[in-house]
Amino acid sequence: MVKIPVKVAVNGYGTIGKRIATVILKSSDFKLVGVAKYTPDYRALVAAKQGVKIYVPREKVEAFRAVGIEPEGYVDYLLEESELIYDASPAGQGAKNKRLYDKLKKPVVFQGGEDPDIVEVSYSTLCNYSSVQGKRYVRVVSCNTTGLLRVMCSLGVESIRRVFATIVRRASDPGEDFKGPVNSIKLDLERIPSHHALDVRSVIGDLDIETVAVAVPSTLMHVHVLEVLLKDKCVDVSTLEKLSQGRIITVDSRLADTTGKLIEIARDLGRTRNDLYENIVFTNTFTCHNNTLILVQAVHQEAIVIPENIDVAYGIMNLDTDVYRVISKVNSLLGIGVIKQIFYRANFT
Ligand code: NAD
Repeated sequence: MVKIPVKVAVNGYGTIGKRIATVILKSSDFKLVGVAKYTPDYRALVAAKQGVKIYVPREKVEAFRAVGIEPEGYVDYLLEESELIYDASPAGQGAKNKRLYDKLKKPVVFQGGEDPDIVEVSYSTLCNYSSVQGKRYVRVVSCNTTGLLRVMCSLGVESIRRVFATIVRRASDPGEDFKGPVNSIKLDLERIPSHHALDVRSVIGDLDIETVAVAVPSTLMHVHVLEVLLKDKCVDVSTLEKLSQGRIITVDSRLADTTGKLIEIARDLGRTRNDLYENIVFTNTFTCHNNTLILVQAVHQEAIVIPENIDVAYGIMNLDTDVYRVISKVNSLLGIGVIKQIFYRANFT
C-alpha cells in the first residue's frame, strides 16, 4: 500500500507543468518534492518567489544562480526522491526522457504531445480510469482530445454510431509568441482526419470518428463543432452535463458568446491563472433530433487536461478504485462546480 502523501516530481515547468505543480501543492494526498526547470527565465523567477522548489540540470546551476535562484538540487535527485513523476516537457521530449525513467522504475504520467506508443495506456478519466492501475507509463491525451473524449465517454461509447468534429484551435498559448498564424487561418491537417481523431482512437480504439482542424490567431481556447450520430434515442444537454460528473458545463451564448468572455468569467471568479477546467457547451447550440446530436463547445487548452492529470495519479498509484469518488475529490480541489452553479438558472429556455 502506498503511503499518503505520495511524493511527486514535475519534470518540465511550462504551461502544463506549472498547473500540475500548483494543484499538487494544494492536495493533501500528494506532496510536491519539486519541479525540474531547464531555463532560468521569468517562469523560474516567479516559481522561486512562490516558494516552489526548483531542481536544475547539473550544467545549469550557475545560470540559475546568476539570476538569483539557488537551486534545491539536480534534476536526477528530484526524480530519485519522488514516487510519481509527471513528464511535462515539450512535445516529443518525453520519449527521450523515458530512458531516464526506465532506470528509475517509477510510474510516469506523460502528456498528449508524446506518441501513444511510448506508454502502456492513453488516458482520459471518463473513458478508462480503471485501466491505469499498477501501470508504469501512462499518457494523458491532449487538450482537444480530452475535450472530445469527455463528450463521447459521458454519452457512452456504445451508444455512438459516428462522430464528426470541426476543431477551431488557438494558434498558441499566451507565452508562445514565436508561434502562428498571426493573421491567417491555417489548416491544421494534411488529410482527413486530422491527428485529433487518431488521438481519440488511442483511447477508444474502434470509434468511428472524423475530425478536421484549423488554427486561428488567438491564445484563448479552442472551439469544437461536434456532430454525433447516436444509435438510439437522443439525450438532452442537462443529461450530458450530469453524466460528465461536472467536467462539462453549459453557458448560454446569449450571456457569453466568445472565448474572451469565458476567460473573463474565470478571471472575475479568481480562478488560478484564469483556468477553465470544464468543457463549456453553449447551451443554445445543443440540438438532438433524429438521433443526431450537434453542439458547439469551448475548451481551454492550458487547463482542460489538469483534472485528468490529477485523477490519473489516484489510479496509477492505486489510491482509489472508485472513479466517481476520485472525480468528486479532484473537482472540489479545483473549484469545479462554481461556474455551473452561477449559470444554471441563468440559461434562457
Ligand atoms: P511548454 O513548452 O510550455 O513547457 C515545457 C517545459 O519543459 C519548458 O519549461 C521547458 O523548459 C521544459 N523542458 C525543456 N527540456 C526539458 C527536458 N529535457 N525534460 C523536461 N522538461 C524540459 O510545453 P507545454 O505546453 O506545457 O506542453 C507540455 C506537454 O503537454 C506537451 O506534450 C504538450 O503537447 C502537452 N499539452 C500541452 C497543452 C497546451 O495547450 N499547452 C495542452 C495539453 C497538452
